[in-house]
Amino acid sequence: MFTLRRIICLLLALFLYLSSLPPLTAEAADVNPYQERLALYKKMETVTNVPWYYLAAVDSYERGLRKARRDRPDAEGFISIYYAQEEWVGPLNPNKDDVDPTTISLFEGIGLDGNGDGKALLSDDEDVLYTLARYLESYGFTEEDFRIALWHFYQREQSVTIVSGHALIYKQHQRLDLHNHAFVMPLNHNYSYKSTWGDRRGWGGRRIHEGTDLFANYNVPIQSSSHGIVETIGWNPYGGWRVGIRDLDNIYHYYAHLNGFEKGIEKGTIVEAGQIIGYCGSSGYGKPGTQGKFPPHLHYGMYRDNGITEWSFDPFPSLKQWERTAKQAKKSKA
Ligand SMILES: [Zn+2]
Repeated sequence: MFTLRRIICLLLALFLYLSSLPPLTAEAADVNPYQERLALYKKMETVTNVPWYYLAAVDSYERGLRKARRDRPDAEGFISIYYAQEEWVGPLNPNKDDVDPTTISLFEGIGLDGNGDGKALLSDDEDVLYTLARYLESYGFTEEDFRIALWHFYQREQSVTIVSGHALIYKQHQRLDLHNHAFVMPLNHNYSYKSTWGDRRGWGGRRIHEGTDLFANYNVPIQSSSHGIVETIGWNPYGGWRVGIRDLDNIYHYYAHLNGFEKGIEKGTIVEAGQIIGYCGSSGYGKPGTQGKFPPHLHYGMYRDNGITEWSFDPFPSLKQWERTAKQAKKSKA
């Protein structure tokens, strides 16, 4: 039996529980980070004439680096561009927490005041973005200028390739929310796969199996799992006809052993999640055109870039999740 006293106790407990929860932050409540970011990029474009998608490209690349690296903290605001404190205030600046744009500039720090509050703050999105925009502006506004600026910024060809790719994706789509995924095959075909990451390979010496094999019939369409840009396409002795697509989280998606590519898919093509890029086959393990050395399947690999190197991680959990989402979407449509 519920007595009044018991109900009061329950209500009190509920109240105590709720008041112990952290308050809802503005971000969780109603702020859309894509909207906030786009507004910041466009504002800096107005001030500096640097196309907003260049700023977006560096920012998304840096967001990926923060995810991949332990030596960088999570971003406090909406912008992920990272500058070391020392670089910001100037290496010889005795005040490591300097926020005065005049003394920072005197000590050859790069930190600038982007919102006119008289301070150059590493924790201020506008100051950080403005500092980057001024840097890019000093090289000019063409794609080639942008690549040169990136080369001096990162000193790594792969970083230049990834960031330039991000810029082209944003330029084409004119929006930032491009992080949804799709399963790599249409659900109405027969296919099977299990977790095979790390298995020993039969061909090509002592390499581990860096991916998941999805067995299906010849010419089952292969779909891009993400929005991205075609970074590599063509023949590879191991992978046969293969496509590599870079997404906006700096992840490289590798599709191998294809029977052929979809028309119009070339190096530099911008693809959407779910777009057909090629067809299932058994190519590979030899010189160009070799096929039939194993049953037809898609070898799917995922590689993460941390700004220094790239490594593979197990795509199986992602595949399972995208498949589940696709099945749910199909069900709710029916
Ligand atoms: Zn494989």
